Amino acid sequence: MALILSKLLKIRKMKGLKIVVLAKQVPDTRNVGKDAMKADGTVNRGALPAIFNPEDLNALEQALRLKDRYEGSTVSILTMGPTRASEIIREGMFRGADGGVLLTDRKFAGSDTLATSYAISLAVKKMNPDIIIAGRQAIDGDTAQVGPQVADKLGLNQITYAEEIQEIENDVITVKRRLERGVEVVSGPMPIMVTVNASAAECRSRNAKAVMKFKHARSVTELQDTTEDYIDIRTERPELVIPEWGVTDVDADVAELGLSGSPTKVKKIENVVFKAKEAMVLSDSDADINELMKGLIENHTIG
Ligand SMILES: Cc1cc2nc3c(=O)[nH]c(=O)nc-3n(C[C@H](O)[C@H](O)[C@H](O)COP(=O)(O)OP(=O)(O)OC[C@H]3O[C@@H](n4cnc5c(N)ncnc54)[C@H](O)[C@@H]3O)c2cc1C
Repeated sequence: MALILSKLLKIRKMKGLKIVVLAKQVPDTRNVGKDAMKADGTVNRGALPAIFNPEDLNALEQALRLKDRYEGSTVSILTMGPTRASEIIREGMFRGADGGVLLTDRKFAGSDTLATSYAISLAVKKMNPDIIIAGRQAIDGDTAQVGPQVADKLGLNQITYAEEIQEIENDVITVKRRLERGVEVVSGPMPIMVTVNASAAECRSRNAKAVMKFKHARSVTELQDTTEDYIDIRTERPELVIPEWGVTDVDADVAELGLSGSPTKVKKIENVVFKAKEAMVLSDSDADINELMKGLIENHTIG
């Protein structure tokens, strides 16, 4: 029995893990300037830099640690977004990922979390990974629904609030979870979805060798738009072409995508601007602090 087990472990080691990291390109809502909102109260995406969603970087680091530990493992970034989102696939490659897929199609536009999860789940199915690692939450949509919804649609087990993937043995993954009041260590069989918290290890920086290796990586649309003549390099090195998948590539039902597939309806978006009359200037005297506490209790802000 022990012999069979050790043989199985060896096979796992030889085979390596196929890991997919879900990553979203988001507007940097942490650096909101005066142009960040339009007059109608919607986000002015053009005025905010587009970044790798922070918790997705934590997710990538967990994936790269598995790749370091289990020989032969591969890490692919999957992102759904406009053609510009290929930037974060390249960024992932500069940090150690092997490649990625850009899920992009006009028919995905306007998707809420349900439609987004549907599209992503179809792409994940096609990629057929052992582990899917996502961030807990995107800083723009902020719902934390996509990871769990993708797992649900694929009928997979899921471990949320992950802080550290501790080990994988016999196709069972053990994960430390960070909860509000402490930690918990749980195990689950693969294939599995793991969503990672910001409390997990920070993502490693770009690696100079990887930057040299992947600096010419371009998505199919970027290749069509480019005036650069890198066609020869790409014929010799197909890993530099970032594939783009649309509705037909993942065999999606259009009715379940975009606005038609999105039961969430945004009724109203409000831009809340604090006015000077809502501000109080306080000194550090006991009298001022007592006055503030009294006011907060009276208007039920605390109690
Ligand atoms: C009615 C409605 C219409 C919308 N229309 C648009 C629109 O036209 N354009 C638009 O950009 N947004 C639109 N959104 C927002 C969009 O639906 C959400 O941003 C998206 O569903 C992801 O949800 P989230 O940001 O809350 O992600 P969360 O659930 O907080 O994300 C959790 C994790 O899932 C993964 N993930 C999430 N999104 C992606 C992704 N796109 N690719 C890869 N991984 C991902 C990441 O790992 C992330 O950390 C709309 C939302 C609603 C409600």
